[in-house]
Amino acid sequence: MTSNRQWLLKRRPDAMPSEDDFELVETPIPEPGDGQFVMRASVLSVDPYMRGRMRDVKSYVPPVQIGEVMTGASVGAVIASRHDDYKVGDIVEGRFGWQDYALSDGKDAGARKVDASLAPISTALGVLGMPGMTAYFGLLEVGQPKEGETVVVSAASGAVGGLVGQIAKIKGCRVVGIAGGPEKCAYIKDELGYDAAIDHRRADNMIAMAAALGAAAPDGIDVYFDNVGGMTLDAVLTRINLHARIAICGMISEYNQTEPELAPRPTRALLVQRARMQGLIVFDWIKRYPEGMAQMAAWINEGKIKYREDVLEGIENMPKAMLRLFSGENFGKQLVRAAPDPAP
Ligand code: NDP
Repeated sequence: MTSNRQWLLKRRPDAMPSEDDFELVETPIPEPGDGQFVMRASVLSVDPYMRGRMRDVKSYVPPVQIGEVMTGASVGAVIASRHDDYKVGDIVEGRFGWQDYALSDGKDAGARKVDASLAPISTALGVLGMPGMTAYFGLLEVGQPKEGETVVVSAASGAVGGLVGQIAKIKGCRVVGIAGGPEKCAYIKDELGYDAAIDHRRADNMIAMAAALGAAAPDGIDVYFDNVGGMTLDAVLTRINLHARIAICGMISEYNQTEPELAPRPTRALLVQRARMQGLIVFDWIKRYPEGMAQMAAWINEGKIKYREDVLEGIENMPKAMLRLFSGENFGKQLVRAAPDPAP
């Protein structure tokens, strides 16, 4: 390759983003200066948080500016280096942006080295990366599931949700997954071992969802790992048990709304059941990632955790890949392959 393909943010969408909100440009492949390296991305990640970065509002990280390279993580090999800690051939993962080649000093991208002998390097963006750590620490630290309890998780076949339910099963819980469509529901039951599945495309309002939860979780809900917000959260709150824990991980059903939805207030359910609802941001556990990754890797090796990737070919498909997250077309961790994995 002779040039660097970069995806820039062209404009900020009001509601559902479209491919026209991004622009693909070609620039020269960068050269490292002192203390820098250049990596070539093999696999790039798209994640729901990117929708938030397209919005010009204050959040826990600043938004992408118009004309800037879209933010996002990728994994690939260092191809040139003038950095003492990164050698040509090292496999690195970090926030290198939507581009083939990234110039970095390591710190600016939160870069880390990946041991390619342990697992396919794409897992550094999924089960052994940010989504895996979200499931692991979010469920165990915020959800605090105990043996015999009922755990409900939404977006249950996805990058985070597909792991949450399996970890809850390892901890001896009854697990109910909420997913979109019969194929995903069959997958979480038959492949991932969840005890029950609810199709939110059939139970598509709060009353129907509350009824479905009543049938699937007859003893009530002790832990809810919320990936979607909206009416699903409202319905769950009608079924929580005494001292329930509600881990607010994401609210993807609300990310493209232009107006806030009128909804039941949660406080009565929390009060009556002395329940705890707590938001989580995975980076709060960044110092403990090695512990989480070691445990997830061990569970994968023991056959206790399965993971699923959904890979689109070609960096030109980055916007398309991101939009799949909001239509539910992705089935597992959504990735984009830009180049083959580096030779070992
Ligand atoms: P997923 O792989 O789960 O993909 C997104 C899924 O969300 C879709 O496949 C779809 O699943 C579901 N979905 C999309 N739109 C709707 C809707 N309107 N109503 C209900 N479900 C919908 O993505 P991730 O696992 O990467 O992320 C899951 C959640 O976790 C997101 O909310 C994300 O923002 C959050 N997150 C939070 C982090 C944190 O630190 N707090 C870190 C990482 C992720 P289906 O077809 O089953 O409906």
